[in-house]
Amino acid sequence: MIAVDPEEWMVDGACRGADPDIFFPGQGEATRPAKAICATCPIRAACLEYALDNGIAHGIWGGKSERERRVMRGNRPTMQARVLRHLRTHGPADRREIATALDVTEGTVSSALQKLVAYGQVSAYIPRNKSRRNTYTATEQP
Ligand code: SF4
Repeated sequence: MIAVDPEEWMVDGACRGADPDIFFPGQGEATRPAKAICATCPIRAACLEYALDNGIAHGIWGGKSERERRVMRGNRPTMQARVLRHLRTHGPADRREIATALDVTEGTVSSALQKLVAYGQVSAYIPRNKSRRNTYTATEQP
């Protein structure tokens, strides 16, 4: 069930039109009904990636419960870390270039970039070439 920050791909979810309550079970309630719908979903991988990258704590996303996602998050770098590593390794890039390189949506990259800019680890500028989009560069050395 997608209830926040809808992106284009989310309209293809198998949960579209389903009762949202089954995707947000209370403590001790079954997660199986939601997971059964997720198992048929064509965007399951993207949904799970989105939830992991954005630290979504509640509900069933991509067929995984809150607890299952917590375990998965512990074993993978955050999207912020991946974006920062990409900028340090490959130099300045715009949002689309980063999304393509990391094989994630631009929306996911955008929210990571917002945090990195707020923390001062990345700065944004508009290149002289006006055809280029906002470009981001790492401000901190590893
Ligand atoms: S994986 Fe599950 S929660 Fe995500 S869009 Fe598909 S059906 Fe909805």
